Amino acid sequence: MNDFCFDITQRLADTKARTGVIHTPHGDIATPAFIAVGTQATVKGVLPHTMTSLGAQAILANAYHLYLQPGSDIVDEAGGLASFMNWNGPTFTDSGGFQVLSLGAGFKKVLAMDTEGLKSDDVIAEGKQRLAHVDDDGVTFISHLDGSKHRFTPEISMRIQHELGADIIFAFDECTTLLNTRSYQEEATDRTQKWALRCLGAHKELTTGRADHPYQALFGVVQGAQYEDLRRKAARDLAQAEADGQRFDGFGIGGALEKENLGRIIGWVTDELPETKPRHLLGISEPDDLFVAIAAGTDTFDCVKPSREARNARLYTYDGFFNITNAANRRNFAPIDSECDCYTCVNYTRAYLHHLFHSKELLAYTLATIHNERFIIRLIDQIRSAIGGGDFEALRVEFLGRYYAKTK
Ligand SMILES: [Zn+2]
Repeated sequence: MNDFCFDITQRLADTKARTGVIHTPHGDIATPAFIAVGTQATVKGVLPHTMTSLGAQAILANAYHLYLQPGSDIVDEAGGLASFMNWNGPTFTDSGGFQVLSLGAGFKKVLAMDTEGLKSDDVIAEGKQRLAHVDDDGVTFISHLDGSKHRFTPEISMRIQHELGADIIFAFDECTTLLNTRSYQEEATDRTQKWALRCLGAHKELTTGRADHPYQALFGVVQGAQYEDLRRKAARDLAQAEADGQRFDGFGIGGALEKENLGRIIGWVTDELPETKPRHLLGISEPDDLFVAIAAGTDTFDCVKPSREARNARLYTYDGFFNITNAANRRNFAPIDSECDCYTCVNYTRAYLHHLFHSKELLAYTLATIHNERFIIRLIDQIRSAIGGGDFEALRVEFLGRYYAKTK
């Protein structure tokens, strides 16, 4: 049974921003929504219960990592990702396409959104060889864990993602960089489209063969880098793609995105995609980018940045981010952000966090992650309300003016 659907509840005039609800077998997601990243079936350092209490609606895990460790068959035996990690809500997995081509390849800055000053030799990290090889059938890559050799094809990615059992899964795509040549981008976009059709076919077969499992929605991934014609064609082709009656349930917008052209690129793609299906932007969480992407018609986002920054002691506030390990925080008995309603800000001081980080205490990572995740989730909640209330633009000007006051 197909328990997946998307309802648009409100639209904001003069933009493509909308609010809606994604219904999945494991629960609903009010959109726009930030999807917290739990790469290895855990948001590092934070209990699922705590993620729920800070407003997280869904968790995104990674097919590549879970395939290598513990193995997707083990997650399957555990009853799927949500059950395995004790997360009482919807889950996503990404296809592994980005990881096999980045971790495997030793890419250093592939998805750097600001290409200024980026040289081609920045793409391959120093001392690493290119460890992933793409051919028309799939990608052969070397595990970053133990150097063992593996192969992903569209069919293998679909099987792994069915075993992982997330509510929303992604088609296997070839993720390119802004530094690839135009002709390579054309070749890769063509290949991604062919893989998309193979994913639909394999997905249909797996869905039928595993009819006792909850329905999993499959999203096609739009590539095409910074080229308007490639992005539009990729979106159109995926919107029409069909295999044995199976079509995509939603769409991901992936690959290399230049920050300065983010809104334009998303706009090309959302022009071509059916309005009635949800769109997920892969790997974005900067506040200015979130406003731009939502106005251009994106419904959900995921990004490792809030939790990764937290573990590096960089904490968000309404007045921009700061480093809690700085000496100025040693005797500061105020919360991280006096306007934040998170568990950390309600109960702990900057001085205590400063102490925990300097002592390398594990609780530092937990408390900092709770705050950063809550900050981004709350921002998206505020944006969602503002779309409904018609004051999106006022929120955008006020929030960004304050957040970037010190840096811009
Ligand atoms: Zn907080």
